[in-house]
Amino acid sequence: MAHGSQHAVRRMVEAWLVEAMSRYNADSYERREAYAAQVHLPGSVLQDLVWWALQALPDEVLVGLDVDAGRPHLDEVDAMFAGAAQRDGLFAGQGYVIGEAAVVNRGDSYSVHHLPEEWTDDLFRSDRGSRGGRFTHWLHTHPNAPAIPSGADADAAQETLGVDMILGLRFSPEGPLPWFDDVDGERRTLAAAEGAPVRRRFGRREPPVLGVAPSGHRIHEIQLIAFHRTGVGVNVVLVDDDGWPYGWSTLT
Ligand SMILES: [Zn+2]
Repeated sequence: MAHGSQHAVRRMVEAWLVEAMSRYNADSYERREAYAAQVHLPGSVLQDLVWWALQALPDEVLVGLDVDAGRPHLDEVDAMFAGAAQRDGLFAGQGYVIGEAAVVNRGDSYSVHHLPEEWTDDLFRSDRGSRGGRFTHWLHTHPNAPAIPSGADADAAQETLGVDMILGLRFSPEGPLPWFDDVDGERRTLAAAEGAPVRRRFGRREPPVLGVAPSGHRIHEIQLIAFHRTGVGVNVVLVDDDGWPYGWSTLT
């Protein structure tokens, strides 16, 4: 097959998500000096993650992520997003675009980190800790809460070979647990563009809608961060199937 056949299956990403990812990348670029490293996540994977998060409500989900060893970051992009403090060799898989994602567990904010037995038996070499070294990176979701690590999250990250990521979602209908924002920490957000209309539902004001999920949820905000087990932040760059950041033309 022709060059690139490995990635021949191109998947549609919602237009509203593409626009929000462009804004997120512009923010990642602006803040590049605050980060020690960067990780490139395909938009199609991010879209899957958002859908999975909403399908699992009210649970959180834990997702294992592997890098595509055949897909290094594009040099030009890596150089653009590299701050002066960027360090090589900080974590496993550094410099490679994230490839596969798989849901590994679901549960509350504590139990989500405890893998089911089938993931921790000797099939996956538990000598590398309870996460078994099975995946390079890990991501878990925070339904109706910001993407800020809890103490349990920081503990779980100690066994991660790559980086830990958190996906926070603000959505309606909220379900039993309304949006909870009383947490200190730096937010990295994909939200509706400024000036987007605020909705009124049943006498209540609802934040601007970023997009609607297949589950019918109205998504107001997606938050996404990555961090290394030492506590340093890792800048996330959202890339298309060819490795170029969404909104690249507006950055260069
Ligand atoms: Zn968490």
